[in-house]
Amino acid sequence: MTYELPPMRPPSEAYSLLLRVHRGCPWNRCAFCDAYKSLKFDKSSIRPVEDIKRDILAARQLMEQAMDASQALGDGGVITDRVRGYMFQRHFLDIGLFPWLLRYGQPQTAFLGDSDAIILKTENTVEILGFLHQTFPTLERVTSYGRARTIATKATGHMEALARAGLNRIHIGLETGDDELLAFVEKGTTAAQMVEAGRRVKRAGISLSMYVMPGLGGVSRSRQHALNTAAVLNQVDPDFIRFRSFVPRQGTPLYQQYEHDELVLLPPHGYVNEIKLLIDTLEVTGRVAFDHMINPTFKQNNHLVPLLHPDNEGYKFPERKGEVLATLERGLAIDESRFIRAEQWILREHL
Ligand code: SF4
Repeated sequence: MTYELPPMRPPSEAYSLLLRVHRGCPWNRCAFCDAYKSLKFDKSSIRPVEDIKRDILAARQLMEQAMDASQALGDGGVITDRVRGYMFQRHFLDIGLFPWLLRYGQPQTAFLGDSDAIILKTENTVEILGFLHQTFPTLERVTSYGRARTIATKATGHMEALARAGLNRIHIGLETGDDELLAFVEKGTTAAQMVEAGRRVKRAGISLSMYVMPGLGGVSRSRQHALNTAAVLNQVDPDFIRFRSFVPRQGTPLYQQYEHDELVLLPPHGYVNEIKLLIDTLEVTGRVAFDHMINPTFKQNNHLVPLLHPDNEGYKFPERKGEVLATLERGLAIDESRFIRAEQWILREHL
């Protein structure tokens, strides 16, 4: 049994059935990103539909074997540690690699990787989605990453076709709504395209997550980054806005700039202030999530405490906007030396 897994997925897809529909990133040039740098993107990066269907069937077979083992062991279809041990001894399969199987037995959600599943021909994705839903009728949500430029330039009606086939959430990396900063980090997309892509996803009836990267502009572009990002988000009104604070990653162009003192990182209160300005300018009705430890986090009695709740569902806006602003204000009253600085995240000094 072979089964190709995408190397990464959003945290909210921790218990999703993972499928790899293409390998790497068709753009692969963002100056802050090292996610798929080692993977050259060419024609062979798009996986054939038949291979993906084989993976779906392999997942189904895996699920059935685990269920059968559970019944045989008297565990009533529940995937227990005993079943896990049995699967390893009998089939040399570590089903711990499939958290959805351990938690639910049958998958509730699925994620299509890698970085931009929308790049596939729509007819192929529709076929994959149909086969996936038919093989796993328990699926309630299927999600993928989507690059804004790919979505913004897709032919009319294609996003709707994907929605009808059962793609019901897309994650877009907005990072910033500031055109100068988008060009500086070589995102390859303009703020107008971000707005167009976000609106297209929503118009198609697909749930939309947009990712924002506080601190990306360093000290010099902090204000324009916050205000112009909020402006894009206000025009789109995504279902989820997810914050991922910027930390330079070794081997990327922005890391080089940081090392050569050409990019001055924000201090901890600078991140908090930038997020506060952005939140203050937001006029949205979705949920705002800080679902990563890399967001403002401070030390208390030798524990790391995230300033804002790190859960995937986040805060419903506008109802809880005041609460988020008040929490950020409280963060500014905490001594800056107690926060984990971006430089420490790079060196993982907090560990
Ligand atoms: S489009 Fe996404 S995955 Fe590709 S380089 Fe940019 S941030 Fe990385």
